[in-house]
Amino acid sequence: MNVNRDLFDDVMVPNYNPSSAIPVKGRGSRLWDQAGNEYIDFAGGIAVNALGHCHPALVDALTQQGQTLWHVSNVLTNEPALRLAKKLVDATFAEKVFFSNSGAEANEAALKLARRYAANQFGTGKDQIIAFKQGFHGRTFFTVTVGGQASYSDGFGPKPERIEHLDFNDIAGLEALISDNTCAVMMEPLQGEGGVIPATPEFAQAVRALCDKHQALLIFDEVQSGAGRTGDLFAYMGLGVTPDILTSAKSIGGGFPIGAMLTTTEIAAHFKVGTHGSTYGGNPLGCAVAEALLDIVNSPEILQGVKQKEQLFRVGLEKINQTYQCFSEIRGKGLLLGAVLTPTYHGRAGEFYAAALNEHLMCLVAGANVLRFAPSLIIPDEDIELGLARLAKAIDKVLCQST
Ligand SMILES: *Cc1c(COP(=O)(O)O)cnc(C)c1O
Repeated sequence: MNVNRDLFDDVMVPNYNPSSAIPVKGRGSRLWDQAGNEYIDFAGGIAVNALGHCHPALVDALTQQGQTLWHVSNVLTNEPALRLAKKLVDATFAEKVFFSNSGAEANEAALKLARRYAANQFGTGKDQIIAFKQGFHGRTFFTVTVGGQASYSDGFGPKPERIEHLDFNDIAGLEALISDNTCAVMMEPLQGEGGVIPATPEFAQAVRALCDKHQALLIFDEVQSGAGRTGDLFAYMGLGVTPDILTSAKSIGGGFPIGAMLTTTEIAAHFKVGTHGSTYGGNPLGCAVAEALLDIVNSPEILQGVKQKEQLFRVGLEKINQTYQCFSEIRGKGLLLGAVLTPTYHGRAGEFYAAALNEHLMCLVAGANVLRFAPSLIIPDEDIELGLARLAKAIDKVLCQST
């Protein structure tokens, strides 16, 4: 069997368009493809591989759990899930945890819980959900409709109703729209897919205050910003604004699929036995890996390291920009950073991405105008330097080709 990119077109549903290089091995912040080429990884599997590839502690947790107990369903509970939930509760505002397998499912649970909470507490009519343009919350029909890009939810028939979108960071817009009929406001404290756009502290505070005023729940989607990525365990901690419901996935599993919804006891009480569920959610394998990850990431050394590495990235990107003047802004926080292309290069982030891949650097885009970096939280400093040197080469090639 020829296991190559052509086989993808033969046998896979064509909803993705992966590049022709197929990774076969990863260690730390490096990847190797079938031809043995080595890549520096600034993408982290889209902000997932928080401890790089094959971190020994995670491999250990997975293999030990794999030799002990794999799956029991939620008819039973299991030790890794209980330990992980306890550690998440101890580390955050939350008092209760629901486990899922992905970010979308954590958000689906959050949205259903908010609707059920409002219906139970206030009766019918309090069902409006306010979210933001360019926001991204996953691909289930509810979450993709709450997401701020209509093109992702169009074309699938009737959508879940009473969902409205505002400009991100627009306090006046929210003041005008929110009312006692608002059930929840959902936002990313740092928009990832939408272009690495931070919520301003004033905005986050205003959202909190308006939600309180109208008894609406504030849902923070921290699927991309959470689990240490911004240099705080969760981004809400850095913003100083506490949500009512928080969702986590991506980095929390370090590469093993797991998601979590965190909330208070009072709100959680509205998911009674049978109200919601998942066959795999909270399975021993995922929870064992996430517990090992949390033990490592939730430490001053790692979180401080993220802030130091952010500086290395910022200084390096500014230096590249002094030579090429292709970025109008470096934004984001911790190791979720976006280099915004100047208007000359708008619409062309994909070309920079492809050129970087040619130089054996994996990075990401966030829309057509932003290069995004979401590497391992413990990427070695020398890998940052080597990767940035490759990025400079790639940019040089793109700019040469366009003159
Ligand atoms: C990736 C992402 C999701 C969706 O997570 P999946 O695991 O792909 O379902 C939801 N919200 C945010 C902010 C994300 O970045």
